[in-house]
Amino acid sequence: MLKINNLHVKLEEEDKQILKGVDLEVPAGAVHAIMGPNGSGKSTLSYVLSGKDGYVVTEGSATLEGQDLLDLEPDERAAAGLFLAFQYPVEIPGVGNMTFLRTALNSQRKARGEEELSATDFLKMIREKAKALKIDAEMLKRPVNVGFSGGEKKRNEILQMAMLEPRMCILDETDSGLDVDAMKLVSEGVNALRDKGRAFLVITHYQRLLDHIKPDVVHIMADGRIVKSGGPELALEVEHNGYAGILAEMA
Ligand code: ADP
Ligand code: MG
Ligand code: MG
Repeated sequence: MLKINNLHVKLEEEDKQILKGVDLEVPAGAVHAIMGPNGSGKSTLSYVLSGKDGYVVTEGSATLEGQDLLDLEPDERAAAGLFLAFQYPVEIPGVGNMTFLRTALNSQRKARGEEELSATDFLKMIREKAKALKIDAEMLKRPVNVGFSGGEKKRNEILQMAMLEPRMCILDETDSGLDVDAMKLVSEGVNALRDKGRAFLVITHYQRLLDHIKPDVVHIMADGRIVKSGGPELALEVEHNGYAGILAEMA
């Protein structure tokens, strides 16, 4: 599904190399986790994949189902099936949550040559999915993320993901700032979307999220590279020994 090969990325504004040769392959149906110390480049990787401004790819490639991602505009990447739940979800004042989702959903369908969803079908779909995430009707009418609590924003990200039904879902620290109940809701939302035709990349600082969303593979990122990969037990090792233990062992 997602193939990243020797990806090197630097900042546009200054001559600072952030990603220094990332190699990663996430097959369809799989859930991979990326853990790693603060500042190792995890968010940068997700930003570059989504097409955010400010980063320059100096070497390497990234493809989604064989299609060159780096060549596409952000909206084309989304239409191709990429979804990113941001570490810091953006607020969109003046645009109702429901209107935003309907526009996003229909523009993606249009880009794929599919028919628009009728207002009735859309309402039915969003009510059902919002209910599962305990998002009430009032929250659906409010401007996107404006005045939402941290937990509400994260649940809203999962609602967007559930509505857009992407093929490749990247979640950047979706667990940060969540209490235990919200984390359960978010995890259930993600688990409900697990499918053999869909892949997930879950970026997290803490092992606890991975108790709820069980990954097939865990990668450790440090200083702009994936330095170690293993099974779910790698997350437990991080929990017990910290990153220092693993990095010392690598050195
Ligand atoms: P992580 O998500 O693993 O904590 P980030 O990708 O956020 O790491 O950051 C990696 C490194 O790149 C950090 O040293 C960070 O300060 C730097 N960095 C990322 N984006 C920018 C930016 N726009 N301007 C300056 N430094 C940046
Ligand atoms: Mg960070
Ligand atoms: Mg980050």
